[in-house]
Amino acid sequence: MAEVTCSFCGRSKKDVDLMISGIHAHICDKCVTQASQILLEEKKTKVEAGAIPNFKLIKPREIKKFLDEYVIGQDEAKKVMSVAVYNHYKRLMQKKADSDVTIEKSNIIMVGETGTGKTYLARTMAKILQVPFCIADATVLTEAGYVGEDVESILTRLLQAADYNVEAAERGIVYIDEIDKIARKSDNPSITRDVSGEGVQQALLKLLEGTAVNVPPQGGRKHPDQKMITVNTENILFICGGAFEGMARIIGRRLNTRPLGFAAAHDRADGEFDKDNLLQFISAHDLKTFGLIPELIGRLPVVSFLNPLDGVALRKILTEPKNALVKQYKKLFEMENIELEFKDGALDFIVEKAVEFKLGARGLRSICEAIINDAMFELPSEKTTDRLVINRAYAEEKFNKSHYSKLKVA
Ligand code: ADP
Repeated sequence: MAEVTCSFCGRSKKDVDLMISGIHAHICDKCVTQASQILLEEKKTKVEAGAIPNFKLIKPREIKKFLDEYVIGQDEAKKVMSVAVYNHYKRLMQKKADSDVTIEKSNIIMVGETGTGKTYLARTMAKILQVPFCIADATVLTEAGYVGEDVESILTRLLQAADYNVEAAERGIVYIDEIDKIARKSDNPSITRDVSGEGVQQALLKLLEGTAVNVPPQGGRKHPDQKMITVNTENILFICGGAFEGMARIIGRRLNTRPLGFAAAHDRADGEFDKDNLLQFISAHDLKTFGLIPELIGRLPVVSFLNPLDGVALRKILTEPKNALVKQYKKLFEMENIELEFKDGALDFIVEKAVEFKLGARGLRSICEAIINDAMFELPSEKTTDRLVINRAYAEEKFNKSHYSKLKVA
């Protein structure tokens, strides 16, 4: 029998790792790799030649409608995000030489108590985005040279999300969580060194401004010999979010010291501020008082807020969104052929506890787990029932048995 050789390079079967056979031809693993590289290169040149990506423009109202299916309330933040993403696309589609009006990008900063849905909103948005998207956490960032991660590591994630396609990453969107954690620690100049605060803000500034940044493709400093990839951040949209604990006090103080005429515009009809939701009055000035440097605030021109979640909102979160917790549990039991029903009383109880423990929507899940875990443990083996009804009494009993009941509310 004739020796099998690669129809492309002529290597014989024994000289290669793998030979793939077609009807009248063979191809070796080396030629497959090379062909794949040629394809990639070809695609890249096409993108460069076209230069302007062609997006299916989804209007802000449609984007918000999609967000509404998952995220309860937070209309203001949803609108701001929808418009920002829409404008981001338009900006990317604008021909460079088209006109002398260049659309500047509008990075966003979102302020809202913990557990009100900042990260969730960003994650949900990612589902309909047509550009690479990543979430980075500001808490791990430190000034270059100190223990922690350099700010460039944020772009490593974006590159990974873009499958290392640099052009795609350069059009991407980055969500930086917990931005409040890099606020200046103290106004006291004698403080030794603020390596995780102001230093990081300065470094971040460069990124937001739009420059060419050298990014370690594997991230971190563990691979010192890796070849850096240059990423231009000019067209990357940055969305920052943080809880900014203590911000309400800062805003309250500012509002009370304003001249009467100005404050009146924000007042409610009864002449009282909505004291439970002062974050809605957030301004760039408050961010500065909190400890963000003015240059950074200047690079985050859109300031938005998320409302605190009250009992009514929490109740909706439990049952209404597309992947609401109650729906998820029902699905889990359905797979065991058990029909699960939550009575209103049980749902009220879960919400009451979440409000009591001040955990925001994040608490709902752990409270549900505490109530339902016994059933999830026993029922799959028992198979004696095809229906489980969780009423208030059941919920209270299970909850009181759990470790949660030992927690005392401050
Ligand atoms: P934050 O980033 O504001 O601290 P998260 O976005 O992490 O809060 O919220 C925690 C969880 O609570 C989310 O994963 C989501 O399941 C739920 N959640 C929070 N807010 C909402 C909301 N407005 N609508 C629906 N679910 C929410």
